[in-house]
Amino acid sequence: MSGLYVHVPFCKNKCGYCGFYSATDAYDLTERYFDAVLKDLSARKRKKYETLYIGGGTPSSVSPVLLSVFLDRLFSAVGSDFTESTIEANPESLTADFLSVVKDFGFSRLSVGCQSTDESVLKLLGRIHGRNDIFRTAESARRLCPDTALNLDMIFDIPSVENSVQMKTLEDIVSISPEHVSAYSYSFDTEYLKNAEPCCESAFIEVKRSLEAAGYLKYEISNFARKGYESRHNIGYWMLNDYDGLGSAAWSLENYDGGRVLRGKVSDVAAYITDPTAYAETDRTEGVHALAQELVFGLRMLDGVDFSSLKYRYGDMLNIFNERIEKLVSEGMLTWQMEKLKITEKGELLLDSVQEFLWDCLP
Ligand code: SF4
Repeated sequence: MSGLYVHVPFCKNKCGYCGFYSATDAYDLTERYFDAVLKDLSARKRKKYETLYIGGGTPSSVSPVLLSVFLDRLFSAVGSDFTESTIEANPESLTADFLSVVKDFGFSRLSVGCQSTDESVLKLLGRIHGRNDIFRTAESARRLCPDTALNLDMIFDIPSVENSVQMKTLEDIVSISPEHVSAYSYSFDTEYLKNAEPCCESAFIEVKRSLEAAGYLKYEISNFARKGYESRHNIGYWMLNDYDGLGSAAWSLENYDGGRVLRGKVSDVAAYITDPTAYAETDRTEGVHALAQELVFGLRMLDGVDFSSLKYRYGDMLNIFNERIEKLVSEGMLTWQMEKLKITEKGELLLDSVQEFLWDCLP
């Protein structure tokens, strides 16, 4: 299983909480940027991918004509028979022309960054769309791209915002009936909030209960889907499967016997265009550290970590975690289900600490 990610690092405005690389003043470089991405692709060994994810930044904010020309060339190079293909958009730039591109290229998922349906919260977050844009664009997406599944992103647990206001966002999102919902805790998921209060337990549980009651299954710490609509591409990230990331600030992961290597591109549009095949960072992980990565990442998945597979591949190395896993199980943070080690609801609330505790026993 391997995925292809393309980073489109252009945004009309920089949101205060955002941890992703994007530029607000580089739209004039769009065409040259897409040329560079294709050059980057031509230097990759892999020529076929199972999933495709066009993310950002804001892919819907670039010229639909340039985007369409780029996708045409991309699909000519790697084919179009993905098991899943996703493109991201923001409500303010989700136009009929952009939706034509989504339909023409057969994207199976459209992921829209809503974040909140409350005007004052949107302003607080630095978003440039309004409440009505969300409903208007969701309706257009359904009408113009009936075969494309919809994911809506929301943020909850925002400091100084009443819980009832955030739950109204959840209610609005459920009323649109997307196939997939990503619900990020402000204090849990963003760098911006490193110093914020820990995630509000009641909000975390309320979001989970409400989405489950509406027919969504929580399959990852921040992701919910109707059955069969889980994001395969993102599951590939959490399972540490191979992926190639094209574009500025994009990362690629390659597994090999005994370890894996992560390679990152420069976080600067102009520098990337100058040398799109160069890597700015390389991070190699082997042995017990590679094992720990699988354990720690895998716990984000509610389905748990398959220990029979880890034992087969890492053997006795796994024993290093025995004592700590036992302690976390006795404290109700983790639980065993046959050969799978799973995070409990109590553990979900403290996932960072659980992961750190396991990681800290490494030499
Ligand atoms: S629109 Fe998205 S990628 Fe762009 S700054 Fe805001 S959160 Fe970051």
